[in-house]
Amino acid sequence: MRFKHLVILFVLVFLVGDFSACAKHGRERAEVKKLKVMTTLFPLYDMAKNIGADKAEVSLLLPPGVEPHSFEPKPGDIVKINEADVFVYTGKFMEPWAEDVIKGIVNKNLIVVDTSSGTKMIPAVFHDADEPLGSFDPHIWLDFDNAKIMVRNIVQAFKLKDSANKEFYEKKANDYINKLTELDSLYRTTLATCRDREIIYGGHYAFGYLAKRYGLRYLAAQGVAPDAEPTANDLVKLIEQIKKYKIKYIFYEELTSPKIAEAIAGETNAKMLLLNAAHNLSRDQINQGVSFFDILEKDLDNLRVGLACK
Ligand SMILES: [Zn+2]
Repeated sequence: MRFKHLVILFVLVFLVGDFSACAKHGRERAEVKKLKVMTTLFPLYDMAKNIGADKAEVSLLLPPGVEPHSFEPKPGDIVKINEADVFVYTGKFMEPWAEDVIKGIVNKNLIVVDTSSGTKMIPAVFHDADEPLGSFDPHIWLDFDNAKIMVRNIVQAFKLKDSANKEFYEKKANDYINKLTELDSLYRTTLATCRDREIIYGGHYAFGYLAKRYGLRYLAAQGVAPDAEPTANDLVKLIEQIKKYKIKYIFYEELTSPKIAEAIAGETNAKMLLLNAAHNLSRDQINQGVSFFDILEKDLDNLRVGLACK
């Protein structure tokens, strides 16, 4: 009997031990380490989130509704960047602060992705005196060929950091690129039919790439960043253009007050339409799960109205 008890005890100990090992294993499984990705702007966030899907935890550094050109990271943001596996930024012309932050990174395992690497950039329009000579237009994501290169740059880092899932990431990146191809051809066929070919923008110079790609003229009230007030001369020039070409619609930008567009509209009886460059989302848009494609499709709807396209 004593021996039997001993056997039962032994079996029990073994089983309990095994169960706890199982539980531990299960917990580890549930907590499979997700790739931690920190992105700066919304287009990069949307790309990274779609490529990583359930295998990555992607964060957006910009707080909701914040205008990105004047954004400077706080010490807490630098900590978050250091804690990530992958840090994705647009490029030095969009995030001039990134170079210093990268130099100061102590996490030697962090992969830094400059998404502008390999993209075709166009020189910035020297609209404001404070735009340094030799600057390039930072809104590279609004040329969909550049956007594809950005996706490629991001997926490269994901595959390097988490090679076990490289085929998964590759497939997701290709899906995203295919959607960009579809969007591009939708833009091309729609914008080829427009009666009016001039975008008058009561905001900063964000759509240079898009206008160039589809053969449109583009006139903006401000330079490549929205922090400088347009001069009275700039506004007079815009208003003259609107009157000369009998332009019926002017476009305004997201996240900043549309007061410039309103002033121009007031002078010219032009109607206003939103043209969202997708730098960042408002809190409402985040809650609604708005995607990069949602924004760009809505923009095309507004361009169709504003430029009288078929
Ligand atoms: Zn911008």
